[in-house]
Amino acid sequence: MTATIHIIGAGLAGLSAALQLAGRGEHVVVHEATAFAGGRCRSYHDASVGMTIDNGNHLLLSGNRAALDYLRDIGAAHRLIGPQAAEFPFVDLASGERWTLRINDGRVPWWICDAARRVPGTRAVDYAALARLRWPRAGMTVGEVVACKGTLYRRLVEPLLLAALNIDPPQGSAKLAAAVIRETLAAGGRACRPLLARDGLSATLIEPALGALRQRGGALHLEHQLRALRFGSQRVDALDFGGETVALAPDDAVVLAVPPYAAAQLIRGLNVPTEFRAIVNAHFRIAAPADLPPILGVINGTVEWIFAFPGRVSVTISAGDRLIDTPREELAKTIWADVASVTGLGADLPPWQIVRERRATFAATPAQDSKRPGAETAWRNLVLAGDWTDTGLPATIEGAIRSGNRAAELIARRETKLP
Ligand SMILES: Cc1cc2nc3c(=O)[nH]c(=O)nc-3n(C[C@H](O)[C@H](O)[C@H](O)COP(=O)(O)OP(=O)(O)OC[C@H]3O[C@@H](n4cnc5c(N)ncnc54)[C@H](O)[C@@H]3O)c2cc1C
Repeated sequence: MTATIHIIGAGLAGLSAALQLAGRGEHVVVHEATAFAGGRCRSYHDASVGMTIDNGNHLLLSGNRAALDYLRDIGAAHRLIGPQAAEFPFVDLASGERWTLRINDGRVPWWICDAARRVPGTRAVDYAALARLRWPRAGMTVGEVVACKGTLYRRLVEPLLLAALNIDPPQGSAKLAAAVIRETLAAGGRACRPLLARDGLSATLIEPALGALRQRGGALHLEHQLRALRFGSQRVDALDFGGETVALAPDDAVVLAVPPYAAAQLIRGLNVPTEFRAIVNAHFRIAAPADLPPILGVINGTVEWIFAFPGRVSVTISAGDRLIDTPREELAKTIWADVASVTGLGADLPPWQIVRERRATFAATPAQDSKRPGAETAWRNLVLAGDWTDTGLPATIEGAIRSGNRAAELIARRETKLP
């Protein structure tokens, strides 16, 4: 009888594991607790703005190789849009200055030596701080490795690391910051082109994946929450879905691709990150001015990034925990004031929606990073996946997909050893 691989969780980690395994001819069944696939990376129809929007604006970079391979595999790479070169327009709300950071394609960073390409108000020597961040000692915070002040910090290091780590950078893990810098800035502009899901996250990353999974013979069960794992001495014997228990045959295996707090409930004693950071997104139904770039970095504002989508302007604020309890209307007005000032759009608040994801990512501190488990477990037919497992990257799409790929590799290898 063919073995079945049960994937628990239809976020990007679970879907990438499912696609890899189904592509190798395995029989795959994905079980998802909610009524939709995509987890923290999804679109939904929002009644307040009367359009389909994403739970949060997600940015990929051209150096996110696993994410791009995933998109090619599901035939959706063309749905990402972005400039031909690594260009990042910025505005400083305090000074009114505007500039575009232009990172040259190759690995030799001559953009640093060109005043028209680097951050205004900085000198080439200032960028030595970035070199120091590339190979930090274990357990250090960003604040212990570089001085978190000055123009370069405020205008480049802070926005980059805040977006990538989703934590106030001085507290962030220098190891995770280093991984981001090595795979992006230090790899040259070819790895730094910003890429956006043109038609929304679900249309780009999720629906094509579900189509590819179906074509490969995989199944998806929505609203099918795993309640408990039944453990034998060396393997998981059964999956308990509440009303229904699925006994596992000797060759069957499980990829547990749920968030850390869910995994900790299912596996007693599992060490997982326990602190999180929020991300706040605001969406406004209004046509973006023609000169608004697809992504604009904002310095010295409440908003950090402004995104122009067809018929909608959206905003992202990382590590947004300080805004979680702000009344929604007040927050919408504060954010709109920044947007109106940057874009020249009128002061009247357009139809809006605020989406606050409280546990958007685990807190990327050294202490929380050290709690991330690897993919393997003490049970021979159970592996872990998720952006919070020990991928070496912060909680990102790239990390989630790499974790799913790794889980699939382990399952494929391990099966040959099972009785
Ligand atoms: C607002 C926001 C903005 C972001 N921006 C970016 C960005 O710009 N760039 C970037 O790279 N990353 C970004 N991220 C991070 C990215 O979304 C995540 O890293 C990624 O989606 C995590 O995928 P995952 O599969 O590991 O986890 P999840 O997406 O959390 O998937 C886990 C799934 O498991 C399901 N589940 C839970 N318990 C059970 C159970 N018992 N049984 C069955 N199913 C269960 C959940 O419902 C969920 O669908 C952002 C995240 C948020 C929230």
